Amino acid sequence: MSSRIEQLLSQVTDPEIPVLSLYDLGVIRKVEETDTAIIVTITPTYSGCPAMDLMEKNIIEVLENNFDKEIKVITQLSPAWTTDWLTEAGKKALFEYGIMPPSPKGEVICPQCRSKNVVLISQFGSTACKSLYKCNDCLEPFDYFKCH
Ligand SMILES: [Zn+2]
Repeated sequence: MSSRIEQLLSQVTDPEIPVLSLYDLGVIRKVEETDTAIIVTITPTYSGCPAMDLMEKNIIEVLENNFDKEIKVITQLSPAWTTDWLTEAGKKALFEYGIMPPSPKGEVICPQCRSKNVVLISQFGSTACKSLYKCNDCLEPFDYFKCH
Protein backbone atom coordinates (compact mmCIF):
# COMPACT_ATOMS: atom_id res chain seq x y z
CA MET A 1 0.00 0.00 0.00
CA SER A 2 1.30 3.43 -0.82
CA SER A 3 1.72 5.79 2.08
CA ARG A 4 -0.24 8.32 0.04
CA ILE A 5 -3.37 6.18 0.48
CA GLU A 6 -2.69 5.85 4.18
CA GLN A 7 -2.23 9.58 4.48
CA LEU A 8 -5.50 10.29 2.67
CA LEU A 9 -7.44 7.75 4.72
CA SER A 10 -6.14 9.21 7.95
CA GLN A 11 -7.88 12.45 6.95
CA VAL A 12 -11.26 10.70 6.93
CA THR A 13 -12.83 11.12 10.34
CA ASP A 14 -15.82 9.83 12.25
CA PRO A 15 -18.69 12.18 11.26
CA GLU A 16 -19.86 12.22 14.87
CA ILE A 17 -16.41 12.71 16.38
CA PRO A 18 -14.35 14.83 13.97
CA VAL A 19 -11.15 14.42 15.99
CA LEU A 20 -11.12 10.66 15.43
CA SER A 21 -9.71 9.30 12.17
CA LEU A 22 -10.70 5.95 10.75
CA TYR A 23 -7.27 4.64 11.77
CA ASP A 24 -7.79 5.87 15.34
CA LEU A 25 -11.15 4.13 15.39
CA GLY A 26 -9.54 0.95 14.11
CA VAL A 27 -12.19 0.39 11.44
CA ILE A 28 -9.76 0.04 8.52
CA ARG A 29 -8.81 -3.61 8.32
CA LYS A 30 -7.00 -3.81 5.00
CA VAL A 31 -6.11 -1.72 1.97
CA GLU A 32 -5.18 -3.39 -1.31
CA GLU A 33 -3.96 -1.63 -4.39
CA THR A 34 -3.92 -3.19 -7.85
CA ASP A 35 -3.09 -1.63 -11.21
CA THR A 36 -6.70 -0.61 -11.68
CA ALA A 37 -8.34 -0.50 -8.29
CA ILE A 38 -8.00 0.34 -4.62
CA ILE A 39 -9.93 -1.91 -2.27
CA VAL A 40 -10.49 -0.80 1.30
CA THR A 41 -11.87 -3.28 3.83
CA ILE A 42 -13.59 -1.78 6.86
CA THR A 43 -15.35 -3.18 9.90
CA PRO A 44 -18.17 -0.98 11.19
CA THR A 45 -17.97 0.10 14.81
CA TYR A 46 -21.61 -0.53 15.61
CA SER A 47 -23.84 -2.49 13.29
CA GLY A 48 -26.43 -0.20 11.85
CA CYS A 49 -24.45 2.86 12.88
CA PRO A 50 -25.63 5.48 10.37
CA ALA A 51 -22.23 7.17 10.52
CA MET A 52 -20.68 4.21 8.70
CA ASP A 53 -22.48 4.95 5.43
CA LEU A 54 -21.10 8.44 5.50
CA MET A 55 -17.60 7.18 6.27
CA GLU A 56 -17.76 4.78 3.35
CA LYS A 57 -18.83 7.63 1.09
CA ASN A 58 -15.99 9.81 2.39
CA ILE A 59 -13.40 7.05 1.82
CA ILE A 60 -14.51 6.67 -1.80
CA GLU A 61 -14.59 10.40 -2.34
CA VAL A 62 -11.13 11.17 -0.99
CA LEU A 63 -9.52 8.31 -2.95
CA GLU A 64 -11.39 9.07 -6.18
CA ASN A 65 -10.23 12.65 -6.00
CA ASN A 66 -6.63 11.54 -5.84
CA PHE A 67 -6.37 8.35 -7.88
CA ASP A 68 -7.50 7.45 -11.34
CA LYS A 69 -8.59 3.99 -10.23
CA GLU A 70 -11.73 2.17 -9.26
CA ILE A 71 -12.38 2.53 -5.52
CA LYS A 72 -14.14 -0.25 -3.66
CA VAL A 73 -15.11 -0.44 -0.01
CA ILE A 74 -15.77 -3.88 1.42
CA THR A 75 -17.56 -4.20 4.74
CA GLN A 76 -16.33 -7.07 6.86
CA LEU A 77 -18.52 -7.90 9.85
CA SER A 78 -16.47 -10.69 11.35
CA PRO A 79 -14.54 -10.48 13.58
CA ALA A 80 -16.73 -7.78 15.05
CA TRP A 81 -15.25 -4.45 15.97
CA THR A 82 -14.62 -3.90 19.65
CA THR A 83 -13.58 -0.80 21.56
CA ASP A 84 -10.19 -2.54 22.01
CA TRP A 85 -9.45 -1.56 18.41
CA LEU A 86 -9.42 2.12 19.29
CA THR A 87 -5.82 3.28 19.27
CA GLU A 88 -4.25 4.95 22.28
CA ALA A 89 -3.99 8.14 20.22
CA GLY A 90 -7.69 7.79 19.44
CA LYS A 91 -8.61 7.43 23.10
CA LYS A 92 -6.55 10.47 23.97
CA ALA A 93 -8.20 12.48 21.19
CA LEU A 94 -11.64 11.44 22.47
CA PHE A 95 -10.83 12.55 26.01
CA GLU A 96 -9.47 15.89 24.82
CA TYR A 97 -12.60 16.32 22.71
CA GLY A 98 -14.67 15.94 25.88
CA ILE A 99 -15.80 12.34 25.52
CA MET A 100 -14.69 9.76 28.08
CA PRO A 101 -13.10 6.90 26.09
CA PRO A 102 -14.10 3.28 26.76
CA SER A 103 -12.68 2.15 30.05
CA PRO A 104 -12.40 -1.63 30.50
CA LYS A 105 -12.10 -1.14 34.28
CA GLY A 106 -15.28 0.90 34.24
CA GLU A 107 -13.58 3.96 35.67
CA VAL A 108 -15.24 7.06 34.30
CA ILE A 109 -13.64 10.43 34.89
CA CYS A 110 -14.79 13.88 33.84
CA PRO A 111 -12.99 15.02 30.66
CA GLN A 112 -13.41 18.66 31.73
CA CYS A 113 -11.90 18.63 35.23
CA ARG A 114 -10.73 15.00 35.64
CA SER A 115 -12.94 14.48 38.68
CA LYS A 116 -14.01 10.92 39.52
CA ASN A 117 -17.10 12.25 41.24
CA VAL A 118 -19.44 11.56 38.32
CA VAL A 119 -22.95 10.17 38.00
CA LEU A 120 -24.69 8.28 35.20
CA ILE A 121 -27.64 10.27 33.86
CA SER A 122 -28.75 8.05 30.99
CA GLN A 123 -27.60 4.83 29.32
CA PHE A 124 -28.10 6.59 26.01
CA GLY A 125 -26.29 9.81 25.27
CA SER A 126 -26.25 11.74 22.02
CA THR A 127 -26.04 8.40 20.15
CA ALA A 128 -26.71 4.78 21.10
CA CYS A 129 -22.99 4.03 21.45
CA LYS A 130 -22.52 6.56 24.22
CA SER A 131 -24.02 7.07 27.66
CA LEU A 132 -24.56 10.40 29.31
CA TYR A 133 -22.80 11.29 32.54
CA LYS A 134 -22.68 14.38 34.68
CA CYS A 135 -19.78 15.59 36.76
CA ASN A 136 -20.65 16.49 40.37
CA ASP A 137 -17.69 18.83 40.64
CA CYS A 138 -17.80 21.04 37.55
CA LEU A 139 -21.47 20.16 36.89
CA GLU A 140 -20.79 19.59 33.19
CA PRO A 141 -22.56 16.74 31.39
CA PHE A 142 -20.40 14.56 29.15
CA ASP A 143 -20.61 11.47 26.96
CA TYR A 144 -18.99 8.16 27.78
CA PHE A 145 -18.09 6.00 24.78
CA LYS A 146 -19.36 2.60 25.87
CA CYS A 147 -17.20 -0.49 25.90
CA HIS A 148 -18.26 -3.36 23.74
ZN1 LIG B 1 -15.90 17.87 35.89
